[in-house]
Amino acid sequence: MVIALTPPVPPQDSPGALLWDVDGTLAETERDGHRLAFNRALAEAGLDWQWSVEQYRQLLSIAGGRERLGHDLLQREGVRPDPDRVERLQASKQRHYAALVAQGEIRLRPGVRRLIEAAQQAGWCQAIVTTSGRGAVEALVRSQLADLSTAFSLWICGEDVQRKKPDPQAYQRAIASLSLPAERMVAIEDSIPGLKAARAAGLTTLVTLSTFSASDPLEHFSSASAVWDGLGEPGQTAKALQGPTSRNDWIDLDYLANLCCGNA
Ligand SMILES: [Mg+2]
Repeated sequence: MVIALTPPVPPQDSPGALLWDVDGTLAETERDGHRLAFNRALAEAGLDWQWSVEQYRQLLSIAGGRERLGHDLLQREGVRPDPDRVERLQASKQRHYAALVAQGEIRLRPGVRRLIEAAQQAGWCQAIVTTSGRGAVEALVRSQLADLSTAFSLWICGEDVQRKKPDPQAYQRAIASLSLPAERMVAIEDSIPGLKAARAAGLTTLVTLSTFSASDPLEHFSSASAVWDGLGEPGQTAKALQGPTSRNDWIDLDYLANLCCGNA
C-alpha cells in the first residue's frame, strides 16, 4: 500500500493537528483483533493455552507484542524464552492479525471516520502516533480507511522509535516532524500508557475510553483535558466523564479546537 505523505495543506496553515493513537482509539483492536491473533499464533505453534479476555487485560500493562509474549512464556515456563522463538510467534501473530483485519473483522469505532473526514476537509494536520508495528496499522487503514489514507500526513509507528508508550518518544518525534506549535495539537488516546506518553510530551489529550480502559479508575486519567466514553456521532452519542461537555453529544472539531487552543 502506498502511504501518501503529502499533507492536504501546508502544516503551518493548519488550524491544528490531531494525533491519533491506533489500538483502542481508531478501533477496538485489542480484544477482538490482537488477542485473537495471539491465540491463533499460540495454537499454530502447538502451545496448549489461550489468552482469555481477562488475562489479556492484564497483559496490556506490558507494551509491545514481543514483550507480552516474552513475559507470558517466562511466567508459564520459568525460563526466559529464546528470542528467535518469540520472534517467530510475533511474526505469526502479525500474519493472523493482518488476516483478521483484511476480512473486515475489526471496524472503526463510532465517530472516527466522521472526525477524520471533517478534519481533513477543514485542513487540520493529522498524524498516526502509535508504537504498534507499521504492518498492523497499514492493514487497518487499508481495510477501513483506504479512501481517507491521505488524511494522515505523518505516521509514527513502532519501528520509528526505540521506546514504546508510555515513553513520550513517539509523540516527541511527531511534534518535531509537524510544522506546528505543540499547543495546537491534540492527542487522541484510549489508555493510561497512551495518555502518559502524550502528556509527557506536553500535549493536550482527549481520552476516548475503549473496552479495556473503561474499567480503569477514572482518577488515573486526571491529566487528560477530557475523558469521554467514545467520540460519538449522530444516532450513537457519547458522553463526557471528565472535562468540558459538548454542545452536541459527540466530539467535533470546534470541541477539539477549544480543548487545545480555547479558540472554538
Ligand atoms: Mg491505545
